[in-house]
Amino acid sequence: MSKLTETIEAVAQMILREKNYLSDLDAKIGDGDHGINMARGFEAVLEALDTLEHPENPKAVLHAVGTAILENVGGAAGPLYGTGFLCASEVCAEDERLTIDSAERLLGAAIAGIEKRGHARRGDKTMLDVLIPIHECFTAPYADGSTLYECLADANQAANEGVEYTKTIAARKGRASYLGERSIGCEDPGAVSSMLMFRAAYQFLN
Ligand code: ADP
Ligand code: MG
Ligand code: MG
Repeated sequence: MSKLTETIEAVAQMILREKNYLSDLDAKIGDGDHGINMARGFEAVLEALDTLEHPENPKAVLHAVGTAILENVGGAAGPLYGTGFLCASEVCAEDERLTIDSAERLLGAAIAGIEKRGHARRGDKTMLDVLIPIHECFTAPYADGSTLYECLADANQAANEGVEYTKTIAARKGRASYLGERSIGCEDPGAVSSMLMFRAAYQFLN
């Protein structure tokens, strides 16, 4: 085990724990399967972590995580999260360590991949409304003078605010967009899963 694989395990446990909550949120503005989809993906991730040849190599770990999610999750969010992990792996060094700079670079690559694949932007009421504010907490000049742990704490707070923001806007992408203005008042399930994944990582790293 490495620190990264242990962090991902904590993320997987959070998703498995919150499976029903995520599906209940999706039942309000989608088809009620977000928790089921995410749990299926992260069960596959846990299996992949067990059989990793190089758990100490973060590039390989992120690649295995992305592949496990892509190969096991249908729907909208699974392929987008899978793509995000694969894109992060692409810009990750084999001896990468967690720093403000590496968090900025890997999250930035993941977001770019998700945007490219899903054609969504900030304000469309998706996972991006949490992922982009998280990323901003690691970008200079915002992060100038902050420690990694201060950035992680700020990002955890930004993730919560991102979820709240999705309640105030109408969905423009995914199934919830069929509801249009009627999706206002509900948080986006993918925004909540992103927030929970970051919270699990943050709590583990603290
Ligand atoms: P499905 O909608 O196919 O049932 P899920 O329920 O697993 O898939 O995932 C829904 C979530 O996926 C949404 O809450 C939203 O955050 C995210 N999502 C949907 N479409 C997009 C998109 N084009 N770009 C980014 N995120 C998206
Ligand atoms: Mg759904
Ligand atoms: Mg579905």
